[in-house]
Amino acid sequence: MAEIIIIGGGIIGTCSAYYLLQQGHHITIIDKTDMLDGCSYGNAGYISPSHFVPLATPGIIKQGFKWMVNSKSPFYIQPRLSKSLINWGIKFIKSATKNHVENSAIPLRDISVLSKKLYEEMCDVPGFDFYYEKKGLLDFFRTEENAHHSEAIVEASKKLGLDASLLNKEEVEKLEPGINMDIKGAVFYKCDAHLYPNKLMKDMIAFLKKNGVSIQTNETVKSFITEKNIIKGVKTSSSEYFGEKVVLATGAWSREVASKLHLSIPLVGGRGYSLTFENFPFRINHPIILSEGKVALTPMANNKIRFGGTMEITSTKMPPKINRIKGIIESVKKYFPDLDIPVPSQDKIWYGYRPCSADGLPYIGKVNQYKNLVIATGHSMLGLSLGAATGKLVSEIINDEPVSMNIQPFDPGRFD
Ligand SMILES: Cc1cc2nc3c(=O)[nH]c(=O)nc-3n(C[C@H](O)[C@H](O)[C@H](O)COP(=O)(O)OP(=O)(O)OC[C@H]3O[C@@H](n4cnc5c(N)ncnc54)[C@H](O)[C@@H]3O)c2cc1C
Repeated sequence: MAEIIIIGGGIIGTCSAYYLLQQGHHITIIDKTDMLDGCSYGNAGYISPSHFVPLATPGIIKQGFKWMVNSKSPFYIQPRLSKSLINWGIKFIKSATKNHVENSAIPLRDISVLSKKLYEEMCDVPGFDFYYEKKGLLDFFRTEENAHHSEAIVEASKKLGLDASLLNKEEVEKLEPGINMDIKGAVFYKCDAHLYPNKLMKDMIAFLKKNGVSIQTNETVKSFITEKNIIKGVKTSSSEYFGEKVVLATGAWSREVASKLHLSIPLVGGRGYSLTFENFPFRINHPIILSEGKVALTPMANNKIRFGGTMEITSTKMPPKINRIKGIIESVKKYFPDLDIPVPSQDKIWYGYRPCSADGLPYIGKVNQYKNLVIATGHSMLGLSLGAATGKLVSEIINDEPVSMNIQPFDPGRFD
């Protein structure tokens, strides 16, 4: 039994606490916010083994340059003279190869399949009721080019043992009746599931508190107390905490926090936006991705619907941009011509920062420089999906137990 400090109370930090708790450790989570509305709340809620292609692909580089000049586009890198952004960008471009995509498929599949299984187990634990649904995911496409791409992706999915099939428009209409859709067809990933992330986070925090986890909110970790290659504790804005093991799960801020330990974790924040409506007249049965528009639609608990999208690589200090929301709304209209989504006022815009690693794979594991530190971050678009498995892996690493899967591709030191 050890004293464990977890820095960061998003889905990764809280899931780590959840699994560490099962082994009887004393856990303290420290977070700089009130932990009530971060990136782990307003996301699309997908638990998606179908996402075995990492963010760093040859396609995103080609498309990204075209999108960069459009203020409503789904992908944008805010140009700025930042050493860390340039460093990340170089590594990202180098990683975006066909080989990398092929090599990432199995590790991403394995961690997401493990995570899905763990979320299903969590559903049965008293205190958890996060509207987990195994309805699959529809990935809509409108162009001929994407129709061909979808054929290839279905084949690749099947080779990985994932349940995916290609549907024509009529078949999609049977699954989503009564909706006017301008699409060519869809990939139906029956292997996927979804949940209501806001409720998962709420249930998780309540569970952790009830089971003795100390949660310190509104405390920013400013520095570390170290002795040679051991972290003895952390200093926050108002206090000091001591522990035997430390988990760094600070999401999009992980590069900055790790730099206080002189560790280099190539990572940037990828801002995304979402809009959630209650009792909205437009209803869908399944989560839907709009392939060309890069927008995610999710039917959520109690007649809610969420529209989410954009990947804006920007400083976490920049104000949100209403044009990105307009971009999401206009994309949706192309697929659903009868649907008019109201533009929210600036203060109603939800946004969160995805922790984007330089190759689209998470950073999970120990580092050479400190014996008692575990890094768990960099999950980009997959943090919710991979949260449970990451927590489980963190607990296994801390306990020096055999890990549930090969975590070598997630080595935090792979860019050193
Ligand atoms: C629009 C959108 C849609 C998405 N959809 C999906 C989806 O469908 N499925 C999916 O799997 N993923 C999705 N994601 C991505 C997912 O939300 C993220 O990958 C995930 O929330 C990251 O979790 P985290 O715990 O690493 O980071 P966070 O949730 O950001 O938590 C990190 C925590 O660390 C704290 N922190 C930072 N610095 C310090 C410090 N110095 N001291 C103390 N605390 C600190 C922060 O306050 C924060 O609470 C989406 C993201 C967006 C934006």
